[in-house]
Amino acid sequence: MSTLATPTSADLFEIRRNDAPVPDAQREEALAAPRFGTVFTDHMARVSWSQADGWHDRRVERYGPLQLDPATAVLHYAQEIFEGLKAYRHDDGSVWTFRPQANAERFARSANRLALPELSEADFLGAIEALVRTDLAWVPGGGEKSLYLRPFMYASESFLGVRASLEAEFLVIASPVGPYFAGGVRPVSIWVSETYSRAAAGGTGAAKCGGNYAASLLPQQQAYDKGFEQVCFLDAATGTYLEELGGMNVFVVRSDGTVATPALSGTILEGVTRSSIIQLLHDAGHRVQEESIALADLLAGLADGSVSEVFACGTAAVITPIGRLGSETFDVTVADGEAGPVTTRIRDELTDIQYGRAQDRHGWLYRLA
Ligand SMILES: *Cc1c(COP(=O)(O)O)cnc(C)c1O
Repeated sequence: MSTLATPTSADLFEIRRNDAPVPDAQREEALAAPRFGTVFTDHMARVSWSQADGWHDRRVERYGPLQLDPATAVLHYAQEIFEGLKAYRHDDGSVWTFRPQANAERFARSANRLALPELSEADFLGAIEALVRTDLAWVPGGGEKSLYLRPFMYASESFLGVRASLEAEFLVIASPVGPYFAGGVRPVSIWVSETYSRAAAGGTGAAKCGGNYAASLLPQQQAYDKGFEQVCFLDAATGTYLEELGGMNVFVVRSDGTVATPALSGTILEGVTRSSIIQLLHDAGHRVQEESIALADLLAGLADGSVSEVFACGTAAVITPIGRLGSETFDVTVADGEAGPVTTRIRDELTDIQYGRAQDRHGWLYRLA
């Protein structure tokens, strides 16, 4: 198990305790059956930035509304980025997170693309540690429960001019979550959008920014209207190749045991789950190809049986089997109500590592408390 490799700034966070925390009984009730992103812990971590003073005022404070001037830059020009990771309680009571350094690095890359100030890894990890230690009672145990952590940064300067903000705020909020699939893992249906793109070359597709999500909501709504649960986007240039869902990467399992996932072309978000799955597949002896995957080839492979499983992945749902693919021109069944064997095995391996039930042979776990 990994120890703290780099010193973090956790000790620099001033803890300003919430003097009216959620009563124990109410918290326990929230932890018993959490719904994604609806209930938040008693505190939030926060660091402020200005061009003049740099990052300053590291603190953990009462969770609550932010007061924003109506001219705050983020409300007009969407200069905002975020991250998503989880804290897991192991059976011995210890609390861990998974590869947070990868999230810190990606956060720095996203900041760079959105012309926001870079936050150091020490501050990214320090904020998470300080918050989770303060709200430790909010980390659920058992089942597939966890504390979802949402670091984010926004342009906080009150100014309508179009340029990078001279002020920014970094916050981490936390929300207890249960298994993404209440009734067990279940394949989802995917609408392939032939009308809208998620990201184009040179755009912000590789950054985790709110704007990408804003642009994905209309296609998502259209998918719902067609009776599908999620959208998959194709490459903006040619509309030929699979890219990813609005917030999850995709994998294709072939019946010969090879596994393919779209290569990181600059328009795809590099998921921590994606890279962990690639490693676990290698470990299990699968050949993994990061390549261009033409939608037409995927459909042909599903028709002739050379493609056996398709799944999506991301921190929130871990691994989601894809059971149906449709668009204006096709509607095919991938799996009948069940996840395939490779999907199931990799999902189990990953969650076993995260929950401390399997050996952490790659040093992915990071102790928080
Ligand atoms: C966050 C995100 C993912 C998944 O990334 P993880 O690090 O695995 O959670 C995939 N695609 C997009 C567009 C995302 O925003």
